[in-house]
Amino acid sequence: MDIARRGVLKVWIDQDLCTGDGICTDHAPEVFTILEDGIAYCREGSKVFNDPGGSSELAVVPSNREGDVIDAAAECPGECIFIEFDEQLPPELEEPRRAG
Ligand code: SF4
Repeated sequence: MDIARRGVLKVWIDQDLCTGDGICTDHAPEVFTILEDGIAYCREGSKVFNDPGGSSELAVVPSNREGDVIDAAAECPGECIFIEFDEQLPPELEEPRRAG
């Protein structure tokens, strides 16, 4: 079993630094959106992480869009796209829970 593939990539945007140029939405419109304020936010499907946004809300990146999100973060002129790898161990490797 490839444990690394059980991890989840998550992303958030620091809206204070966003220039609103739309490079992120060009790369991954399923993960990023620009709202009426002209600033980019992360999304999961129809749920937009704009309340409050920033580091308080991390969106899960679909596995087939991970490369696009990494490219967007690398090219973001505001350097305000942050990605985190949330490692999730398979249940058989997690510590057993105590009964009671
Ligand atoms: S690429 Fe970066 S600066 Fe440009 S809209 Fe997206 S988050 Fe904002």
